[in-house]
Amino acid sequence: MRNTATGEDASFSVKRPEVARVLESASGEEAAVGRVIGDDYERLIQLRMAVKTGIKEGEPLYLCAECFTPVYLCCRKEERRFFFRHTKEDGTCSARTRGLLSQEEIRARSYNGAKESVLHQQMKQWLVDSLAASGQFTEIASEKRWTGRVTGAWRKPDVSAKWGDLKVAFEVQLSTTFLDVIAERRLFYLKEGALLIWVFARFDADARRLTQNDVFYNNNQNAFIISPSTREASMAEGKFLLECIWAEPRNEGQTPVLQRKRISCSELTLEPETQRAYFYDFDGERKKLPPAEDTRRTALAADFEGWWLRVAREYPSQYEQEEVVAGFPELHPPSWEALGPVAKYLPADYWLGPFLPVPLLNILYSAKHGKPIGLKRNLFIEVAHYAAENHPTYLPWFRKAFAVYNRGELLQEQDKTGKWRRRVAAYKKEMKALPELYAPDRTHQRLVELLFPELAPLP
Ligand SMILES: [Zn+2]
Repeated sequence: MRNTATGEDASFSVKRPEVARVLESASGEEAAVGRVIGDDYERLIQLRMAVKTGIKEGEPLYLCAECFTPVYLCCRKEERRFFFRHTKEDGTCSARTRGLLSQEEIRARSYNGAKESVLHQQMKQWLVDSLAASGQFTEIASEKRWTGRVTGAWRKPDVSAKWGDLKVAFEVQLSTTFLDVIAERRLFYLKEGALLIWVFARFDADARRLTQNDVFYNNNQNAFIISPSTREASMAEGKFLLECIWAEPRNEGQTPVLQRKRISCSELTLEPETQRAYFYDFDGERKKLPPAEDTRRTALAADFEGWWLRVAREYPSQYEQEEVVAGFPELHPPSWEALGPVAKYLPADYWLGPFLPVPLLNILYSAKHGKPIGLKRNLFIEVAHYAAENHPTYLPWFRKAFAVYNRGELLQEQDKTGKWRRRVAAYKKEMKALPELYAPDRTHQRLVELLFPELAPLP
């Protein structure tokens, strides 16, 4: 998906959402749904769960910005596009989000339901047999009523058991299990201090259903399968064995790889407080990866600086420098190719227009190095005078750069005549009287942020 300045095109949002803007309860801020939905699928699936859980808890995260009804995230399956739907729709809002199911959908659902109920019964039995075979579980029961200690509400988990002191509920996930049910049960067992583990009959990497993802992405990217063969193996080995499918993180831009292995329940990490049970710690492993994006941006900034210092050395006048760098970014040092498409890390507007701001870059690099770069001056203080005199609209940034690179002392030392001190006093006065003269020129802001990240946030 294409990334644009607005982020709208890159979003998983449907093209023309009925609810176009939502109110974020926590901040009271209004936001376009394209931005809220965003372009990160994993984050989105986790958000979907959080939004649903908020509604179940009576603390909705998002409200329709028009009618203030709580809304939740739905997915248009065929195209993997998401939208917000009202929890209630009584006609008072102009946004219509609750269409009736088509006849076809209803038929498909009841057909799948009938087909799956047989499998469902079998899976419960396989679970019970496997748990019993291991000898590690007590109070193994199928379809036993579980009454909440605090709430008094009750559920009937497919299978329940005690694993040491921990009460565990197993639910078989079928294609007819929807997010509502998943969110609600998750919350119930969380409040019970118990752990809910979802099991699947199959888990197709290519055609993964959204409801499978609702479980998978909220379980540290681990999923479990119960089948006749895991049951047989459990009975033969006297262990509770499951087939685990998990994702292993890769560097940014690469799809995580799915792995599959038969594991024993004693290899699982159990986290009732997050309702996660996992064999492979996806989140933990991902944290160990270097942030690839940052690394590349830093490398590009370093390459750019190297190139700039070379140009500044070889071409003493700014006029010549402007000529040399005019072809940028189409013409950039070939060594940069190794970084991947340079374009990705450059502000988009550099492909359309403004030439590199030679004086701005010279002054900032001078501040960074504490000596004149690309300017025919002897002392750093002469650069400071040049900057203040000729580029008032960049002065707020230069001042920040002088502070960040600790050039105050150097300026003081080189200010033998006190001329700099007087100039500072004068422009400070003028900044107050005529602030519009010093309003920062933001044409090159994104470039400066890329090349001089230590100056962020720019005034
Ligand atoms: Zn509304």
